[in-house]
Amino acid sequence: MIPVTERTLRMLIETVAKRVIEHTELLTALDAAIGDGDHGINMKRGLEAVLVDIEDLAAKSLPESLKAIGLILVMKVGGASGPLYGTLLMTLGRELDDAPDRAALTKAFGAAVQAVKARGKSDEGAKTMLDVLVPVLHTLETGGDDLPARIRTTAEQSAAATAPMKATRGRASFLGDRSIGHVDPGSRSSTLMIAAVCDVLEGRRAP
Ligand code: ADP
Ligand code: MG
Repeated sequence: MIPVTERTLRMLIETVAKRVIEHTELLTALDAAIGDGDHGINMKRGLEAVLVDIEDLAAKSLPESLKAIGLILVMKVGGASGPLYGTLLMTLGRELDDAPDRAALTKAFGAAVQAVKARGKSDEGAKTMLDVLVPVLHTLETGGDDLPARIRTTAEQSAAATAPMKATRGRASFLGDRSIGHVDPGSRSSTLMIAAVCDVLEGRRAP
């Protein structure tokens, strides 16, 4: 069982939001290379809106908080990524209960990744956030010791592994072969958020 107290929930939301905001320039630079250069700004706008509501969001149950954050991301992030991250979090909120164990979390994350695939008409290998989300789901499924550390490693390696891919979904796909050689911005923002969650669950939250 993962106890999600109000204090833990606040720390999770704050750490994820601040981590992404701190990396606005990196995300923008990645998107400038193979997109339209707004991914950092989009994510910053959405996560700043989340931080404005932090007291209300942390006071909610885990499922209600996830749904509310998902809605904020849909409304504030915009671009392709806002509706996709919104779908991910709203599905997680619908699927989870207040104190999920690993099996429940795995099932809910599986449903959430499936919902992102459906919403984006996409899958692994298209050089998107799914190239991090799907491998992270597989690591979550394996369970075992040091799960947060292994999930963090999976996410980081998977984001780096998007560089040699050719984009076939999203704006980067317009570049065809010229998308090769750059890390996908959404795979990087997913990794930042997943690593922040892992840090809090491990009790280390240094950025
Ligand atoms: P936009 O491309 O509209 O400017 P962003 O720059 O905020 O939106 O987000 C771009 C990111 O969204 C990409 O790097 C990619 O990871 C993700 N993305 C785009 N299209 C899809 C899709 N169809 N499925 C999954 N992820 C996608
Ligand atoms: Mg963009």
